[in-house]
Amino acid sequence: MTTHLDCIFCKIVASQIPSRKAYEDDELLVFHDINPTAPVHLLVVPKEHFENLISAKPDHAALLGRMQLLAPRLAAENGAANGFRTVINNGPDGRQEVYHLHMHIMGGAHPWKRMG
Ligand code: AMP
Ligand code: ZN
Repeated sequence: MTTHLDCIFCKIVASQIPSRKAYEDDELLVFHDINPTAPVHLLVVPKEHFENLISAKPDHAALLGRMQLLAPRLAAENGAANGFRTVINNGPDGRQEVYHLHMHIMGGAHPWKRMG
């Protein structure tokens, strides 16, 4: 598995930086966003380091599918009972800040009101 020494999400995956974990399996770690923009704001992070969908490979298809299919369960378990948004930011124009692919899950009452 590729780990980038300077990558904050690789450090969270390696438990070198703490996070509020919501779910973990062999391929994925899910934790609460440190700066939430919705009442429920989770980040679904592959343990493998790759930057974003621009650099994703066909081999990542199953992983990316699993991330989406996990979202309803994670949202419901964490209090977003009435729907949610999923967002993946890609590259500068996609306003990506952390260059380790991750999917936001945002739910709770009116999550869109605070989205930029
Ligand atoms: P983006 O790359 O634009 O999709 O955004 C990265 C997200 O990671 C932002 O919503 C940050 O609040 C979040 N974030 C950055 N550092 C941490 C951290 N140490 N723990 C949890 N969330 C983080
Ligand atoms: Zn990384």
